[in-house]
Amino acid sequence: MKKVLLLKFGELFLKGRNRHEFIKLLKANILKKLRGYSCKLEETQGRLVLHSYNENLESEIIERLQQVFGLIAVMSAIEFDTSLQEIEKRVSEICFDGVKSFRIETKRADKTFPMTSMELDKHLGGVVLDKYPNLQVDLYNPEAVLHVEVRVNGKTYLYNQLHQCAGGLPLGSGGKALLLLSGGIDSPVAGYLMSKRGLRLEAVHFHSYPYTSVQAKEKVIELAKEISVYCDEIKLHIVSFTEIQEQIHRNCDEEYMITIMRRIMMRIAERLCKHNELGAIITGESLGQVASQTMQSMNVTNSVVSIPVFRPVIAYDKEDIMSVAKKIKTYETSILPYEDCCTVFLPKNPVIKPTIKRAELLEQNLDIEALVEQAVNNEEILTINNFSK
Ligand code: ATP
Ligand code: MG
Repeated sequence: MKKVLLLKFGELFLKGRNRHEFIKLLKANILKKLRGYSCKLEETQGRLVLHSYNENLESEIIERLQQVFGLIAVMSAIEFDTSLQEIEKRVSEICFDGVKSFRIETKRADKTFPMTSMELDKHLGGVVLDKYPNLQVDLYNPEAVLHVEVRVNGKTYLYNQLHQCAGGLPLGSGGKALLLLSGGIDSPVAGYLMSKRGLRLEAVHFHSYPYTSVQAKEKVIELAKEISVYCDEIKLHIVSFTEIQEQIHRNCDEEYMITIMRRIMMRIAERLCKHNELGAIITGESLGQVASQTMQSMNVTNSVVSIPVFRPVIAYDKEDIMSVAKKIKTYETSILPYEDCCTVFLPKNPVIKPTIKRAELLEQNLDIEALVEQAVNNEEILTINNFSK
């Protein structure tokens, strides 16, 4: 008998030729996540089985697996050679102290086993009741479910605990994109959500030092570190926006300041995407949240780039975004006080329905290409990761 972890992954995406690549990537991501822990990972019949790990570290390992995209659940199980006698023995050893009702759920993949799943359910239910005569069998709403899986590899697995994982698709299965990372609540959540759909991330942060503080930059580095728990290593591009903001401030209408800032941010982001082979831009915009996030504003900012812009929280209420931020543990860092370059020069009445025509006209007062080029050339690059083992 040995302790193992059964890892369950999504079925929907496992069709056809992609299946092999999907599992290969998932396995690599799992092993990377568990670097520093000695363990073995095997694939058997649509499941991954992790074994030969230090049992004292099991809960740490489960916690790490819960951060791997593509896994749906982890079950802490025992594995032993299949025989009715052995199954009875192991089932009789399961502790049901303090439990009022239970059910056995057998999956018999090994059709040579002499009992059907239903027969096993009943038989093993009897084994449990012999030991716990006051326990109730409840098929529909039991307090405890004991799973028994009789597999074709001659092994049986027993488990009664299931740990939910993050779901999604394996990191890297969708390519790589650039997250516009501010110090707020929304953009780390946006990065997490796209990463969960299989995108690896790089991130860009615009700062306006000395108008914004060193602490504001430190905060963004901390946020990148926090999402790297899920998103793995992140290359963080730190780009100075000071000169650009000063020029916009001097040369453009106040009400269009944010619009033009955002158009320049997008152009710089697109340039970084081209240089770093990134396929899309990700932002934390949510429809109607502020003046720069109306449909018209987003159209005017989008019109300067020709790569996809993903806005995964576009339809989220602030409350919804906050609850994800709390779940992924970026919330506490995000709410620390900070100045963003967008807030430093915030106009009193930003335009709510800007037009492309007006933005283009105002931009004639700026040497956009030179500003973009200079910003990109002077970027600072940091590699952020969260390897604690
Ligand atoms: P967040 O909560 O993510 O900071 P926000 O509510 O402050 O967003 P905006 O300032 O309008 O909203 O920014 C919208 C999006 O633009 C952000 O979610 C982020 O993707 C991007 N963004 C804003 N400021 C910066 C910045 N300084 N550096 C990089 N991206 C930024
Ligand atoms: Mg926001």
